[in-house]
Amino acid sequence: MIDLNAIVSKIGADMAAMEDRGRVADYIPQLGRVDPQQFGMAVVTAAGDTYQTGHASTPFSIQSVSKVFTLAIALGRLGEALWKRVGVEPSGHAFNSILQLETEAGIPRNPFINAGALVVTDSILAGHAPRETLGEILRFVRMSAGDDSIHINRNVAASEEAHGHLNRALANFMMSHGTLQNAPDLTCGTYFHQCAIEMNCLQLANAGRFLMGGNAGQNLISAEKVRRINALMMTCGHYDGSGEFAFRVGLPGKSGVGGGILLIVPGKASVAVWSPGLNRRGNSRLGTMAMERLANATGWTVFV
Ligand code: GLN
Repeated sequence: MIDLNAIVSKIGADMAAMEDRGRVADYIPQLGRVDPQQFGMAVVTAAGDTYQTGHASTPFSIQSVSKVFTLAIALGRLGEALWKRVGVEPSGHAFNSILQLETEAGIPRNPFINAGALVVTDSILAGHAPRETLGEILRFVRMSAGDDSIHINRNVAASEEAHGHLNRALANFMMSHGTLQNAPDLTCGTYFHQCAIEMNCLQLANAGRFLMGGNAGQNLISAEKVRRINALMMTCGHYDGSGEFAFRVGLPGKSGVGGGILLIVPGKASVAVWSPGLNRRGNSRLGTMAMERLANATGWTVFV
């Protein structure tokens, strides 16, 4: 019998005592102001039980974790046609790299690097006003979390908008290749705002339930799509750190530069962790460590 209460509390206590907490992302100035001394974790099981520790009720910027939700919406809307515009291979490069776009005809490697996520957002934008699309993204996130209070932090969105030159470069480059269909500024503006969605660990763990699959999955999307999103989270969810995350944790996860990670234990649990200090690949340092300890202590893995 797994004692999740004891496991989660012990992880919380161990992480609170850690000295090297990594570096907070400061290329988005608003994120650079977050106190690195914070750590929170929440586990929601398929049976609906909840376990939490630390700053599990403190809201944080979900950043790239939002790419999971937009991918779910885009797959529902476009189905297989989405894969003509974005690939399903790990990139082995930083999340914001432009390198492969040049040699690969403007088609991003996967939907979780920035270029790929811009394509996904562009595909749901498809002629709508950014405000309508953001409303749709928020509706999906609120429904999956079962919480209508989830919102976008406009200061964080404005902060990224003011410093998002690299994302705009990616978008313009893809526009010139015909990969994007909307004006790059509209796609980028929508993307900056989806990244600025705030949630706490409890809300994020609840929002991830639909990826557990089976009855716990609330039937928000089909089982086939759940399988594909989890596969992409495993292979691409941590960018050039995806191999290491799979090796250490052995479960599909998606990270964001706000320091959040959503982890899916298929059929069993949805887990969210947050600690703002990042490792050199831009993934939460303590968050990754905490997920590794959780996987070891519970035996949860997709590999044995
Ligand atoms: N909004 C961030 C960016 O585009 C998201 C990156 C991330 O979380 N890895 O740079």
